[in-house]
Amino acid sequence: MPAAIPRRVPVVIAGAGPVGLFAAARFASIGVEALLVDRRAEASTANRAIGVHPPGLAALDAVGAGVGVRAAGVRVHRAHAWGADGPLAVIDLARSGEVVALAQASTERLLEERLVTLGGTSPRRGIELVDLVQDAHGVDVVLRSASGELRVRADVLVGCDGRASRVRTLLGIGGRGGGYPDRYAMFDAPRSDASDPNGDDAAIHLHRDGVVESFPLRGARRWVVHVGASGDGAHTGALDREPDVGSLLDTIAARVGERPRTSLDTPVSAFGIERFLAERFAHGRVALAGDAAHVVSPIGGQGMNLGWLDVEALVSAYERIGSRVGASGVVEALAEYAARRRGRARLAIWRAECNTRLGRPTSRALA
Ligand SMILES: Cc1cc2nc3c(=O)[nH]c(=O)nc-3n(C[C@H](O)[C@H](O)[C@H](O)COP(=O)(O)OP(=O)(O)OC[C@H]3O[C@@H](n4cnc5c(N)ncnc54)[C@H](O)[C@@H]3O)c2cc1C
Repeated sequence: MPAAIPRRVPVVIAGAGPVGLFAAARFASIGVEALLVDRRAEASTANRAIGVHPPGLAALDAVGAGVGVRAAGVRVHRAHAWGADGPLAVIDLARSGEVVALAQASTERLLEERLVTLGGTSPRRGIELVDLVQDAHGVDVVLRSASGELRVRADVLVGCDGRASRVRTLLGIGGRGGGYPDRYAMFDAPRSDASDPNGDDAAIHLHRDGVVESFPLRGARRWVVHVGASGDGAHTGALDREPDVGSLLDTIAARVGERPRTSLDTPVSAFGIERFLAERFAHGRVALAGDAAHVVSPIGGQGMNLGWLDVEALVSAYERIGSRVGASGVVEALAEYAARRRGRARLAIWRAECNTRLGRPTSRALA
């Protein structure tokens, strides 16, 4: 356990994904020290979110990270929707503000840089939250690393520890949700502005065999392909055989009429999708934010943005408590946060579910 870990802090944040990093930066922006821990030894490089929406960008601006995200990402102006008989619609994304596409790992790196610039401390990696005990005046958080266990006392604990949240489990908070039958695969193919027919626009091809979506990144285009579904609606397990890039290129050519150019050793990520809504987002002095509180189908790309907005609401609630942080005011403020954000998450889950159904093969679209 590194010696520099403080034993008493105003806020502990478990999980240094995009939501935990943003939370630490946001607390730093109002001068509140937060101890941010993550059980991973290294930052994740997993291929996940790319879409940053106008409310998410506004949240990033609150910590000064929006400038870097805009500079590193691609501004997506339009989304072209195609059906079996040709173009269906052109959606003007710029009407509701800026939409930026940037790989999640880059967004996380920029958030970590901002955290340090704002006077916060980089995430302590390789440290897992394993237990918590709260009383009327604070929370004791038990952290475990390769060098042993340590107890840290905080006024507030924020669980940003993802879909299998340990914090949520320790609080005994259940929830509702489950897997969708759909399986998707995605990969990034190189692109040049001259060769890309969609330029910096997104494209959604609604095909009878399943949707193909593509999004611009710097020097690349991300392709997301509906590759099948299991018969059981509660199952998100693997198909008989996960697709390789060669079979995905064939599928795209058949559904879209365009074959992206990429080498046959391009890595492919295959994934199932799910939804989950925690039955409550706070208990006493502990709040949940991001995927720990809600999991949204990634078709529509909202989970990360929703998590940032959780944090915005949480930090506003914390600011309202002021000097009463040791008293019962904190519990009331977190309960208010929880009620407000749970309603928003339920709506986002429903919207994402509509998007998911639209992208299914025609025979299953109403399943
Ligand atoms: C294919 C795909 C595409 C997506 N596209 C988009 C998109 O375009 N836009 C969008 O907004 N969202 C998108 N999402 C959703 C987005 O990726 C998630 O909502 C987001 O990563 C959630 O962030 P988080 O910080 O809450 O959780 P996570 O990213 O899961 O991070 C949780 C962190 O907590 C750590 N942790 C776990 N347990 C502990 C513990 N006990 N102690 C300490 N640390 C712990 C983990 O190591 C991890 O680093 C997509 C998701 C997928 C799968």
